[in-house]
Amino acid sequence: MDFSLTKEQQMIKEMVRNFAEKEIAPYAAKWDEEAHFPLDVFRKMGELGLLGLPFPEEYGGAGGDTISYAIAVEEIGRACGGTGLSYAAAVSLGASPIYYFGTEEQKQKWLVPMAKGETLGAFGLTEPNAGSDAGGTRTTAVLDGDEYVINGEKCWITNAQYARQVIVTAVTGKDARGKNIITALIVPTDSPGFTIRSNYDKMGVRASNTCELVFENVRVPKENVLGDPQKGFKQFLYTLDGGRISIAALAVGIAQAAFEKALQYAKERVQFGQPISKFQAIQFKLADMAMEIELARNMVYKAAWLKDQGKPFTKEASFAKLFASEMGFRVCNQAIQIHGGYGYMKEYGVERHLRDIKLMEIGEGTSEIQRLVIARQLGC
Ligand SMILES: Cc1cc2nc3c(=O)[nH]c(=O)nc-3n(C[C@H](O)[C@H](O)[C@H](O)COP(=O)(O)OP(=O)(O)OC[C@H]3O[C@@H](n4cnc5c(N)ncnc54)[C@H](O)[C@@H]3O)c2cc1C
Repeated sequence: MDFSLTKEQQMIKEMVRNFAEKEIAPYAAKWDEEAHFPLDVFRKMGELGLLGLPFPEEYGGAGGDTISYAIAVEEIGRACGGTGLSYAAAVSLGASPIYYFGTEEQKQKWLVPMAKGETLGAFGLTEPNAGSDAGGTRTTAVLDGDEYVINGEKCWITNAQYARQVIVTAVTGKDARGKNIITALIVPTDSPGFTIRSNYDKMGVRASNTCELVFENVRVPKENVLGDPQKGFKQFLYTLDGGRISIAALAVGIAQAAFEKALQYAKERVQFGQPISKFQAIQFKLADMAMEIELARNMVYKAAWLKDQGKPFTKEASFAKLFASEMGFRVCNQAIQIHGGYGYMKEYGVERHLRDIKLMEIGEGTSEIQRLVIARQLGC
């Protein structure tokens, strides 16, 4: 029991843990091997209210707070990193921008079905030539009468193949200083000229759906502009701040799974006549792993709490994402070390955690970009 959580938060933790242990964990290795996206599990998560967890009930959500949502991401990630990534992306990237910036009509049309778990959404920012430098977006959207005409390409977009709509960033003009104006548009995935392919062979998070998007004269009505058409850049920075809390929570969940396997194995594996958990070298590894996971979890809760209080949380979200992802990589690596040669074998399931956790140092801003964000917050 975690006494730092409220009764509701503890109930969510228990409910999601039970669900994930029954419906996700037993299949995670198979999904990883087959690169299978578990759509049926997303339907069940929808029925449990998990896809609308942090949204108000008036928008089909469960009215939970960001800490509860982070707990859910951690527990799903503990069972399967890929499913955890798709869950975090569905809520933080697919649905949240519409909740933050959408008109009432857009919320009713797009957010409510997502929060109820009836549909999924995706967020298309990254392009082959615009990754960390997302301001370098080349996709364009040109106004033609009452419609925008979109041309361009996006890469590595999570959940797009199963999404009803993708929020797409595109250049719509130049400002007074000659800089690109970036606008976010809600693009239905069945729009003519919109191609979605999922041909990537990934190192990890293989249960997550990752797509390439191609736009060839895709037309969307003007009312599909999300928020202020001049402020698409600022909007996605805010969206990513929130998303980083969920990536940090996911890293904690994956690290927790690797740690639990290592602890159990250390107690069972006998060498030199005693369980290896009796060797101080192994004990110190396990002690450091447990401490670092707990520290990262607290950082996640603090960033989530600040967000819920309506206070600035950019720096704390980057702290949490940077520390949790790098901590998680260390923990998963040590979990393999504790397993010795068995850890190197797929059968023991720890190598999957290392492959999955690597993405946490890359997605939603690499570790280098997190350090830049933090330095900027320090006034550098
Ligand atoms: C599985 C997966 C899922 C994803 N899902 C989504 C999604 O749903 N939506 C979406 O929009 N994107 C998504 N992405 C894209 C992801 O956010 C980008 O990969 C990430 O932002 C990094 O961009 P890049 O890969 O182009 O790397 P680059 O920007 O090319 O960076 C390469 C290296 O250079 C470093 N670097 C770059 N600029 C600087 C700098 N100024 N200072 C110091 N170092 C720097 C980086 O840290 C990195 O080490 C996903 C990616 C993957 C792999």
